[in-house]
Amino acid sequence: MIISFFLRNRGCRHRCIFCSERVTGGEGAQDLTEDFFRETVEKHLRTGGGKKDAEIAFYGGNFLEMEDSLQSRLLRFAGPYVAGGQVRSVRVATRPDSITEERLRFLSENHVETIEIGAQSLVDAVLENARRGHTAGDVRKAVRLSLAHGFRTGVHLMTGLPGEREEDFLRTVGEVEKLRPHTVRVHPVLVFRNTALAEAFRSGTYVPLSLEEAAGRCSLAMERFERAGISVIRVGLQETEALKEELIAGPHHPALRHVIESARFLERAKGLLADLPPGTEGGKAVFRVSPADGSSFRGVRKENLKILQKLFPLLNIGVREDEAMKRGSLSLALEAPGSEDA
Ligand code: SF4
Repeated sequence: MIISFFLRNRGCRHRCIFCSERVTGGEGAQDLTEDFFRETVEKHLRTGGGKKDAEIAFYGGNFLEMEDSLQSRLLRFAGPYVAGGQVRSVRVATRPDSITEERLRFLSENHVETIEIGAQSLVDAVLENARRGHTAGDVRKAVRLSLAHGFRTGVHLMTGLPGEREEDFLRTVGEVEKLRPHTVRVHPVLVFRNTALAEAFRSGTYVPLSLEEAAGRCSLAMERFERAGISVIRVGLQETEALKEELIAGPHHPALRHVIESARFLERAKGLLADLPPGTEGGKAVFRVSPADGSSFRGVRKENLKILQKLFPLLNIGVREDEAMKRGSLSLALEAPGSEDA
């Protein structure tokens, strides 16, 4: 369980071309008083369950460039919960060019275990177009420093930034693979009201990715990161009221990850069925997946199962959710007709 607090663009020296304060700042971004902080944490601990894994997160701005007094105050609010064992640790989000040895030491002395670094791209021209104000070299340095200091390190990436070609995104993915952070978040660029990107979109100088392009790129990135042992903890921005209200254009889907995972399962399932030896026609072909993947495997309104059945009409195709299966894995077995329904 992550108990998140949003710091609406605090610590941002300037505004990135795509950044909507309302969307980045999360729902109900607030002035963080100690009373509000305590009430929120305690409410989550009472109602959230699984408190031994609870973390407190400071998102929505650039933590390490906020006034020192504010950083210390927020970490002091969180300290007693970690020291008392109610919360496991603290995580913060920050820009790569804000990370220094001294600031990392400060974080590790104050219960921070995870640092999420807003990289967005590792191609300098793309970073410049997005008015990020840092370079790909800053990202490499920041990730290496964070890892060297023992932090669990996450990298945020975007695809579809102005001027980014597919090969630029793949180069970014390749560079991040080499840096080996613990986690990544990937999301396609969306156009929000009151941003410089919205102006570029209106004037026709920026054309967003289509949903299909965005899903294809994210899918590729997921596959490569998973293969490299880097956990993809989010694909696409979290669906919030602020997002829906501020969105003007772009490849938005409220369940992008689900759509991508369904498409990937469909391709893998087709491959497994096509590899069945001759003479299996008329048999019962049962896929096994983790319960967490059941809905992605079946697809929206069981569309994947319908497609597979249509492509392989001589088989009786089913799916069984199996606790023993690892998330993301898929197996296929032929079962005798009349075996337990799948
Ligand atoms: S650094 Fe992050 S929060 Fe600050 S303006 Fe850029 S995208 Fe927005």
